[in-house]
Amino acid sequence: MSNLSPVEDAEPCVSEPSSSPIVEGLPGRLTDVAGLPIRRLLPRSQRRLVGPWCFLDSYGPLTFASGKPMDVAPHPHIGLQTVSWLLEGEVVHNDSLGLQGTAGHGVLNLMTAGRGIAHAEETAPQNTGRLRGLQLWVALPGASRETAPAFEQHRGLPVMRREGGRATVLLGELGGVRSPARAFSPIVGADVAGEPDRQLVLPLAPDFEHALVPLQGGCRLDGAPLAIDTLYYLGCGRPELVLEGDAQGFRAFLLGGAPFGETIRMWWNFVARTPEEIVAARDDWEAGRRFGTVAAYAGPRIPAPALKARPVARP
Ligand code: MN
Repeated sequence: MSNLSPVEDAEPCVSEPSSSPIVEGLPGRLTDVAGLPIRRLLPRSQRRLVGPWCFLDSYGPLTFASGKPMDVAPHPHIGLQTVSWLLEGEVVHNDSLGLQGTAGHGVLNLMTAGRGIAHAEETAPQNTGRLRGLQLWVALPGASRETAPAFEQHRGLPVMRREGGRATVLLGELGGVRSPARAFSPIVGADVAGEPDRQLVLPLAPDFEHALVPLQGGCRLDGAPLAIDTLYYLGCGRPELVLEGDAQGFRAFLLGGAPFGETIRMWWNFVARTPEEIVAARDDWEAGRRFGTVAAYAGPRIPAPALKARPVARP
């Protein structure tokens, strides 16, 4: 997916972890990506990073009889990984390496942009007529951000089972269960499913900061009900997270990692460190350099937004 709001996300994104456990609820901000309504949970002015996670959109659930509710034309990325995870429905990825993969139930699409890649994401021609999913970005640490672009797909991801529920581990490690997906810094990303009227205890790494985003059903934390599509920032220092499922049970996304410790600059679809890098990446996209062509997509690519002085003129 593409971030189409150039100005508001252009500020430097500083890692500001809470060293002790807190619960800070931040409802998703309604906006849209290429016409698809989404709730943006990261970055927000109140919180830019959770570990290396720097971007999180939640979309759906929706049903459709025809057309493509998801249709994001070719656009470039640098300095990040994109994580596409569907609870319902199907999204086809095509990229400038010539690789294609359909994310769907239980199938993770993971793209490493590194020094530069272009991709498109659209509703699959053969589809279930439903769509509910998450689009996330992971910032690459300085030492890895010039890595070669890559795309990988994972199905049959490992599952951590506990009394009262389970967690599918997409990235990193949770409770001794490790995802095979490629990660570049200490991280966790997991799809948590809690059984109805049961308590679920998730083991956490105390040196990570974490956040939880409820996606379906209902659950409580410390006796308080949690709202769907709200980012609950949890801070560092938690050895475990105790969730109480209500009568429907629940589904939630757990994200976290070691505090990133590097200040990043996000502009459009780029994660960089300096204004000069952003200008160079934008120039390369506009000139048809570096990123290649997404040959499998039928239609024009997305032009870069105008480069306003503000995003790049600040130190
Ligand atoms: Mn994208």
